[in-house]
Amino acid sequence: MLLDADLTGHTVLVLGEAHASRRALRRYAAAGATVRAATSPAEAAGVDLDGVSLAVAVADGDPAWRPHVTDLGRRRVVVTEQAAAPGGQIVLVGGGPGTPELLTVAARTALREADVVLHDRLSPWRELRELTGGAELVDVGKRPGHHAVPQAQIEEMLIAHARAGKTVVRLKGGDPFVFGRGREELGAALDAGIPVSVVPGVTSAIAVPASADIPVTHRDVTHTFTVVSGHAPLTDAEHAHLAGLGGTIVVLMGIGTLNHLLAGLRRAGLRDTTPVAVVERGYRMDQATTYATLGEAARGAVAGCASPAVVVIGEVVRLGRGCPAELAGAVDTLAGASA
Ligand code: SAH
Repeated sequence: MLLDADLTGHTVLVLGEAHASRRALRRYAAAGATVRAATSPAEAAGVDLDGVSLAVAVADGDPAWRPHVTDLGRRRVVVTEQAAAPGGQIVLVGGGPGTPELLTVAARTALREADVVLHDRLSPWRELRELTGGAELVDVGKRPGHHAVPQAQIEEMLIAHARAGKTVVRLKGGDPFVFGRGREELGAALDAGIPVSVVPGVTSAIAVPASADIPVTHRDVTHTFTVVSGHAPLTDAEHAHLAGLGGTIVVLMGIGTLNHLLAGLRRAGLRDTTPVAVVERGYRMDQATTYATLGEAARGAVAGCASPAVVVIGEVVRLGRGCPAELAGAVDTLAGASA
């Protein structure tokens, strides 16, 4: 709900052109009020004020409305003002790793003002009713037994809603520009000539390891971290490159190709004692972290882990919460490495 007040039992009159008023109409209806609308000055002149406790004037600068607004005050109706809703636009919003606690202020504002929200399953979609003011919610993500809406169709939907004059939020898990096809959606909006903006989000690449107290960098341990997509298997050149960097490796969408990656990193010379953590379902009640060495992981120690999960490979893993003593004991520090 948008307004904190419960307006059940109240009748609210909204004055303003239909398109400009849509946000006010939705907001007061979501707060429980019975909403009456006057969409032209002529309609306002004849409106039934019986039971109306509050009037909302949607400011559009049109002086034709002014006498009607003044008249309401004289007739002892409380009048408040609200800005006119803008024309069609698209906002690409990073929803963070799945808890509303990790939404940014800008993300919350965008959700509050949305007419339509297209969301997937890694964003905090369960809480969208409370985070929006009665917006239409469209699930375009993958669910067990259902297919995700194809990307081209998502882009068509975004544009169709915006062309209908709506404020459309595309809510994505984490950050929209980290393996999220955010730039494709931005490009589709730009090509269609629709106003579009991006609200960055807290990426799972950093936040999910953090939920297990694993820092992706540490002054004494590593000053490099690389975020890799496991969506498609890496080549041996990429394995060699990653192993050669010597920093933290963070893998998203990595469960399906994990065996391939672990084998490739070993072939590329990463030591079997290198620690690995798989953090499953970050920020959910059933979050779990599994620790192993690279050698153990390659022999099946993390085989039971399921998506969504973030895989972390590197010395920083030893600092993680719940890391077994035999792994945690021997952090290979930068000082140690250069000594
Ligand atoms: N744009 C997103 C990433 C999209 S790729 C971001 O910045 O976070 C989807 C992958 O993100 C998943 O396969 C998983 O590896 C990771 N992920 C997202 N949320 C997660 C969570 N709550 N717990 C574990 N992994 C998560």
